[in-house]
Parts: sequence; structure tokens; C-alpha cells
Amino acid sequence: AYLQQIEKCEAQLGAYIKVTREVALAQAAQVDARRAAGEQLHPLAGVPMALKDNLCTQGIETTCGSKMLQNFCPPYSATAARRLEEAGCVLLGKVNMDEFAMGSSTENSYYHPTRNPVDPTRVPGGSSGGSAAAVGAREAAFALGSDTGGSIRQPAAFCGVVGMKPTYGAVSRYGLVAFASSLDQIGPLTRDVRDSALVLSAIAGKDERDSTCVGRNYGDFQQDIGREVTGLRLGLPREFLEEGIDPQVKAAVLAAANRYEKLGARVEPVSLPTLKHALPAYYVISSAEASSNLARFDGVRYGYRAKDYADMDELYERTRSEGFGPEVKRRIMLGTFALSAGYYDAYYNKALQVRTLVVREFEALFKDFDALLSPVAPTTAYRLGEKMADPMAMYLGDIYTVPVNIAGLPALSLPCGRDEEGLPIGMQLIGPPFSEKKLYQLGYAFE
Ligand code: GLN
Repeated sequence: AYLQQIEKCEAQLGAYIKVTREVALAQAAQVDARRAAGEQLHPLAGVPMALKDNLCTQGIETTCGSKMLQNFCPPYSATAARRLEEAGCVLLGKVNMDEFAMGSSTENSYYHPTRNPVDPTRVPGGSSGGSAAAVGAREAAFALGSDTGGSIRQPAAFCGVVGMKPTYGAVSRYGLVAFASSLDQIGPLTRDVRDSALVLSAIAGKDERDSTCVGRNYGDFQQDIGREVTGLRLGLPREFLEEGIDPQVKAAVLAAANRYEKLGARVEPVSLPTLKHALPAYYVISSAEASSNLARFDGVRYGYRAKDYADMDELYERTRSEGFGPEVKRRIMLGTFALSAGYYDAYYNKALQVRTLVVREFEALFKDFDALLSPVAPTTAYRLGEKMADPMAMYLGDIYTVPVNIAGLPALSLPCGRDEEGLPIGMQLIGPPFSEKKLYQLGYAFE
């Protein structure tokens, strides 16, 4: 049924870079056989999924939305992908994304843009736009995405689905093509909160292959789903509802706050004064890390290699000039500049100081609050092409999502209404480290 839906929708949506039809049918047949043999199966066994194309899949192309990795077939699978495969999930294919996860609209993909299933004249958000569109259009039961500065939560908001960005270190990054290693996290995009908890339970937990992955026994993330939220304290950071926000998005988030009060939670306005500094700090830190991480794409070890070159320097230069798209080049230049002698203290070190301030501000708030409620993006989904000529306008749309990555916190993005044109509006619940279960409890109560 999912393969049929893909056939029906793909010409218009373009959520997938590659549909792995044969793999899917073989895996599904295997699950059927195991079930017929009376085997006790994982709750996710047989569930068809899509993976963002920056998650390595053994023997299956992993392009990262880039020409640079066009024919790259990883010799191993990402831990998150492998755990789902072991649970019996069925891989429908690899889904579209902004090149190297840099972007907010999926228009930076080398392959093709993806369209929003709610309104195909609009972007699905990004960089996990393929993941969100596939789930929104029922072209997959769930998908994995990655979130460095909002790339799970913002496309979830634009497509009207649920997106979870877990605590930094909750999910192994092994096999996730690195963008900014201190910010990247893998997480699920699903149709509802319970599905999200189910998928996160399958992928979270210690992995010897990622030293930043925290050894913790999470148990079942569904554990607190269905429990009342009476007495829980929610903070509403006022800086998230000030300048530049679409009045309809603001109204929907305030209405959500009201609903939480009716459900018995206590909602109070709070302040996060460093919010305005988080965005510039994010673009310095993420670009600095990206410039270092992407140094490995030199035409020698992975994927694309330029045809004509006279010597080693020219091999590097041509390969990188031809293999990377404009946004990736912009980030590499920005990051290299911020890390260079003479500018390091002024930009990179300053950004790290801001990072510490953001962390402390959140910590102080979480002494008094269980979670914070905020919009995910200042607007609903915009039209394709609308922001492509203006990278700054595109970056500004990340204002509400990046502070969460800067501080390594978990945040759940879920639908909270629609604007006059019927486009989905998203809100996010932000919690202290490892509070995913409470976020699911709060999210489920609202749903
Ligand atoms: N839009 C942000 C950026 O372009 C976030 C990307 C992400 O989370 N991968 O950097």
C-alpha cells in the first residue's frame, strides 16, 4: 500500500531520492515469514519507513542531497538505521534533503526540490523536508530526520506532522554524515506522538561507536503517555512571540497555552534574553564545524572526483568546486573565516561564549518549569523560490529552533492549528536534558 502511495504521489511531491522497492518487498516478506513461524516480533516489525539520505545504509546509495556523494554506497549502516532494521522495519527508500542538511526548505538538494503535501506550491521545510513530506503524504509510516538547527522540527511544523529532536547524546550519530557534530541529532518524524515515542525507544541508547552517545537506560519512551498534565509548569518565553512572528502563528501558540491551562497545567510568561544572540552564534558554530567536517570530501576517499586535473591541488579544487552546491560553499567559507587566525577569538570564541550563556539561561528556567512552549517557525510554509535569493531571510526562519541545539536540549514539534490558507502551524515543547518522556506526556495530552 505504501509503495502504491509512493507511485501515486511522487511525480508531484518528490519526497524520495531513491525508492528501495526490492529491499522493501524482501524485508516485508521476511517479517511475514518470521510472524508465520510464530516468532515474537518487535512492535515496529513490518512498519514501512523512510530514512533521510544523510543516514548511511549499507549497500544503498547515501547522497546527502549532494552531487559530491552521488554514487556513494556506504559499507555500513548508521546505528539508528540498523536498530530499526533489526526491529523489522521495512525500508521504502531514502528521502530528500537540503545538501549536507544545510537549509530550511529542501530547495538546496542537488537532485530536485520536494513539495509540501498540504499545498504543493509551498516548500515542505528543511532540511529534512523529504522525511516530513513522505510522512505527511502517507508515503511512509514514519521517517528519520536529523536536526542540527531545526531540521526535524521545522519541516514537521510545515507539513503538519510530529517531529522529535532528542537530547544531544540520546541517539547515536554513528553513520550520520556529519554537518556540525556538537549540534547534530537524529530523530523521528511521525503522524502522532505515540508513534514518535515508539520509534525513539527503538533508536535511542548507548552505542560504542559514538563516544558522545550517553549510556543511559531509557526504557520505553511511551511510559508517561496518557498521564494527566495537571500541575505541570510550562514557561512561555516572551522573546519567542515578539518581533517578526506571523500573527496567526502567535495566536495558535497562545491558544495552545490556553488549552494547557484548561488541562490543568500552569502556564507563565518567562524570559530568554539571549534568544537574539543564539542565531548568529549558531551560524558561526555550525559553519565552523561544517568547514572542518566537510574537509574529508577531497575527491580521493568518497564519491565525486573531478575529471581533469594536473596535480593534487587541482584535484581538490576542481572536485570541491564541482561537487558542492552554493549553500555548502557559503558555509565552508563562513566557517573557515571564523576559524582563521586573527578572527578566531572575535567570532568562534565569542560564539562559544554565547553558547554558554544560552545553556545557563535554559538551566535557570528549568529549575522552575517542566517545559517551555514556543512556536517552531515565525511563519507557515512559504512558496517555492520565495527565499532562495536571500540566504539571510532563510536563516532568520531558524530563530526559534537553533537555541535548542545550542543547548543540546530535547524538543517536540507538533501541530497546533492551521492558518487562514489551511497551512499547518507548529509549536514546540522544549525540556531539560533527557526529559523526552515528559515532552511526550505533554504532547499526547494536547493531541
Ligand atoms: N536551517 C538550519 C541550517 O541551515 C538548520 C539545518 C539543520 O538542522 N540541519 O543550518
